[in-house]
Amino acid sequence: MNYLAVKTCTSCDTDKAVALFSKDARAKAGLTSRCKACDKEYRITNAEAISAKQKIYYAENLEAISAKQKIYNAKNAVAKAAYNKIYNAENSEAISAKKKIYNEKNSEAIAAYNKIHYAENADAICAKNGAYKKANPGKANSLEAKRRAAKLERTPVWSDAKEISLIYQQSASLQKLFGRAMNVDHVVPLQGDLVSGLHAPHNLQIMFAPDNLYKSNKFDIEGFNA
Ligand SMILES: [Zn+2]
Repeated sequence: MNYLAVKTCTSCDTDKAVALFSKDARAKAGLTSRCKACDKEYRITNAEAISAKQKIYYAENLEAISAKQKIYNAKNAVAKAAYNKIYNAENSEAISAKKKIYNEKNSEAIAAYNKIHYAENADAICAKNGAYKKANPGKANSLEAKRRAAKLERTPVWSDAKEISLIYQQSASLQKLFGRAMNVDHVVPLQGDLVSGLHAPHNLQIMFAPDNLYKSNKFDIEGFNA
């Protein structure tokens, strides 16, 4: 395209540089007949009519559009997954804040949906969970501990979920390495006889399973202070 060329806008009837016109593959010259400024004005003035027209177009071409979308998605699946991963990592706080608000607003509907969904898919869900636990013992144990701590309201807001999950994953790795059962233990038990500990990294320790079982919920204050 010759960017020094000039074109007359059909709306304002002014000769303008071609760079001031949008591209339009369907148009003869490859450019819109209205200049960008006029086009913007046109879109604002006719916003309602344009959106009504679009709605009709989508309704009439639903199948063709979704078929095209499917092909596009399949072609770009890998790139999209990579993009999503980066986007989610960069916006994790904003995303989880948004999710939290959404879940709070829709808690009743979500609970109702979950109830039906679990009832209808109980076997499949159990099988999937079992397979996940087997493949990711550290993460599964971390989630289980998180649920238990939440039930007891022992997870402080400052608790680092990622760090906690890493401790559980480390425990699973050690278990594999030693060939002996390992547990992640709360130094001060979540539900102790005297005091209750927190579900937070500083209160977690990786132990061989029998020691941990023996420890139970007894908390030795003198030992802890020493
Ligand atoms: Zn114009």
